[in-house]
Amino acid sequence: LLYNQVQDLKGTIRVYCRVRPFLPGQSNGQSTVDYIGENGNIMIVNPLRQGKDARRVFSFNKVFGTNVTQEQIYEDTQPLVRSVLDGFNVCIFAYGQTGSGKTYTMSGPDLTTQETWGVNYRALRDLFQISKARVDAIEYEVGVQMIEIYNEQVRDLLVCDGSNRRLDIRNNSQLNGLNVPDASLLPVTCTQDVLELMRIGQRNRAVGATALNERSSRSHSVLTVHVQGRELVSGSILRGCLHLVDLAGSERVDKSEAVGERLKEAQHINRSLSALGDVISALAQKSPHIPYRNSKLTQVLQDSLGGQAKTLMFVHINPEVNAIGETISTLKFAERVS
Ligand code: ADP
Ligand code: MG
Repeated sequence: LLYNQVQDLKGTIRVYCRVRPFLPGQSNGQSTVDYIGENGNIMIVNPLRQGKDARRVFSFNKVFGTNVTQEQIYEDTQPLVRSVLDGFNVCIFAYGQTGSGKTYTMSGPDLTTQETWGVNYRALRDLFQISKARVDAIEYEVGVQMIEIYNEQVRDLLVCDGSNRRLDIRNNSQLNGLNVPDASLLPVTCTQDVLELMRIGQRNRAVGATALNERSSRSHSVLTVHVQGRELVSGSILRGCLHLVDLAGSERVDKSEAVGERLKEAQHINRSLSALGDVISALAQKSPHIPYRNSKLTQVLQDSLGGQAKTLMFVHINPEVNAIGETISTLKFAERVS
């Protein structure tokens, strides 16, 4: 095995850091990323501090710089995705402040060119390809759910009738990761099916929101791929699921400025992201008590966090100087869960 494959197999929680490039029109002058070393180190320079306090190194499983392509990102994600076909449960998260590149990593900037497809589409394409290649030995069925968690309420993004009711979470190991049993579970057989469902999901996400971007930065979206395989010779059944989670923006909202709805949203987001951090760090420390019950997000994902399940967290950094505060708190969050 190559060194990085061994790294990939070690442990069940991985943290990858991705640095977003400067966008057109943004100052290219000063970046808070001083250097990206080998072995997953990143050095951050805080322009507001002087001397040795200004620099700090953080370490993760991997750090991806601004020139890393969507394809390269997926290469390091692929082994995890493929393990779903062998019956593992996997969670892949995108964490970071609004504008740091979460949706870029998970979905991509636009769906028309496959080159910029994000992890979601690449993962499904891969699952279809491998299941076809194994067709003589195993018969796979793939189904997709897409939900949104907004203000601690779970909603189905794949409803076609416009009903937008709240859904209940069931935690029952018999359900094999199907913890929101009333959310639409739609069969898919090719990437075209998936693209169509994503469009429905995006459209439903916009309902009731003034601007799509606003809403999507304040809710968690969870795309779950359920896979069932039947071994043709033995007849035995394998089940695995893949949760692809584009988290709400992690930025702290100034309490003195936020009021009403905005304050409520911010409190829900802060609470659920820290509940997620608590669960993952308890798992990383092999704590006997894992506090799943503290948020809807961790309840939905309960079967797929811990045990035999595998977790990958992409944390995203915006290299602009005015993002330094959020960059440091993002990296501290990531350090705590790794
Ligand atoms: P978030 O989902 O965290 O709010 P987005 O994914 O929407 O952030 O990214 C914000 C902007 O930055 C978008 O215009 C997106 O296309 C761009 N962007 C993010 N990451 C990259 C990247 N790795 N390469 C090029 N552009 C990126
Ligand atoms: Mg986004």
